[in-house]
Amino acid sequence: MAETVRVRFAPSPTGLLHIGGLRTALYNYLFARRHGGAFLLRIEDTDRTRFVPEAEDDILASLRWAGLEIDEGPEQGGPHAPYRQSQRQAIYREHVQRLLEAGHAYVAFDTPEELEQMRTRLATEDDPSPKYDARTRQHMTNSLTLPAEEVARRLATGEPHVVRLKVEPGETIRFHDLIRGEVAIETDQVDDQVLLKSDGLPTYHLANVVDDHLMGITHVIRGEEWLPSTPKHLLLYRAFGWEPPRMAHLPLILSPNGGKLSKRNAEQAGIPVSVRQYREAGYEPEALVNFLAFLGWNPGDEREILSLQELIEAFSLDRVGSAGVQFNLDKLQWYNEQYLRRMPLDRLVERARPHVERAGYTADDAYLRRVAALMQERIRFAHELATACPYFFEDPVTYDEAGVRKRWKDDAPGLVSAYADRLEALDRFDAATAEAALRALAEARGVGAGRIIHPTRLALSGVTFGPGLFEMMEVLGRETCLRRLRRAVAVLGDGR
Ligand code: GLU
Repeated sequence: MAETVRVRFAPSPTGLLHIGGLRTALYNYLFARRHGGAFLLRIEDTDRTRFVPEAEDDILASLRWAGLEIDEGPEQGGPHAPYRQSQRQAIYREHVQRLLEAGHAYVAFDTPEELEQMRTRLATEDDPSPKYDARTRQHMTNSLTLPAEEVARRLATGEPHVVRLKVEPGETIRFHDLIRGEVAIETDQVDDQVLLKSDGLPTYHLANVVDDHLMGITHVIRGEEWLPSTPKHLLLYRAFGWEPPRMAHLPLILSPNGGKLSKRNAEQAGIPVSVRQYREAGYEPEALVNFLAFLGWNPGDEREILSLQELIEAFSLDRVGSAGVQFNLDKLQWYNEQYLRRMPLDRLVERARPHVERAGYTADDAYLRRVAALMQERIRFAHELATACPYFFEDPVTYDEAGVRKRWKDDAPGLVSAYADRLEALDRFDAATAEAALRALAEARGVGAGRIIHPTRLALSGVTFGPGLFEMMEVLGRETCLRRLRRAVAVLGDGR
């Protein structure tokens, strides 16, 4: 029987969900759906010093916004609940006990000061910055160096202690990473990891391994920054006598100005780091998801626009690269524009509606739909339907100065008034009749059409650019056009 894929996204709730975190979640999600498997959310909240109470809600809201459905998690529940590590302490303690009994772990009583002193006390020429490991542990205060009764006495009196993994030196840990191939790390480089902290809480390493095993995780897909932790995890799996999951480490996301896309680097490059910021800036979730999917992966053909469903069908870890990938905000904006262009008008109206209201405009859906049809190709964000073309909602109060200088010539007042008169006299007012009337007037006055088109646009919108003039006039309606044309003539006069 083929094994059922089970993957997890295991964020630590230390702040708003990072954009790189969403990419990790997405790749896990795509992999799960591609293989008909399960996508779990596990909250790794054992580091109480970095815990941020609102972070979990933000993670859930961000995943929901991005359209990544969770099969098992703190909200959804599931056969391996609880999915919050802070609620699984008894499980970790029981597992640490097993390691202690089997001699794979030991208790250490060293105080922070003693650990600090160790770094100078035990430094040698070969090992100038010693770790807590096979060489140094013999000189420290732990259950390997103290008599058993002494250990029991200290534990009985509640002396602060940690539990460490006993890493044996001189071994090479090899594993096959599904993205980077063969990886080998010497155990000499690995220190005796703390598994249980003095506050009784597990470290990331212990809780992560125990949970991945108990939750039946088949593939660990996570950022490259976790690669150095993997040998420690593999040693833990072996100590427990468990089969480890397969490993896949995603390439780093790089800032355009070099280095990892850290909070600081990103800020310097003007790149938002939290998913929340993208959401608030008005990005379409589908665009962000499509963009993130391509940050380290590609489908191997020319396609660039793929829906979540298409991404699921095309996704494979074989096509994830191992080299770092640069974050390109322009590319994300391009994706956003592509999604806006393909969006059904009703949806665009729905997306723009709150912004139209926030701007204090009144416009019914039918009207907004017509504005959307004209502006769809011209906007980068849905909210620009309210912000980039206020003239669809209110009469211009001012006129672009440079535009007036350039376009409102001496003959503009006469031509614009005459045009208003002709529009008023039309039987039927629409884009075609408005255009015909303008061309007829230009002909009659012996001027080029542009001589009327430009000042008319300025009078109607206050600016010199926008959608097709006659289409815009049809949407504005005759009454509004006449009022604005006549007001511009009154306000601008001969323009000087
Ligand atoms: N809690 C770790 C994080 O914050 C999880 C790393 C992993 O996936 O193992 O990313």
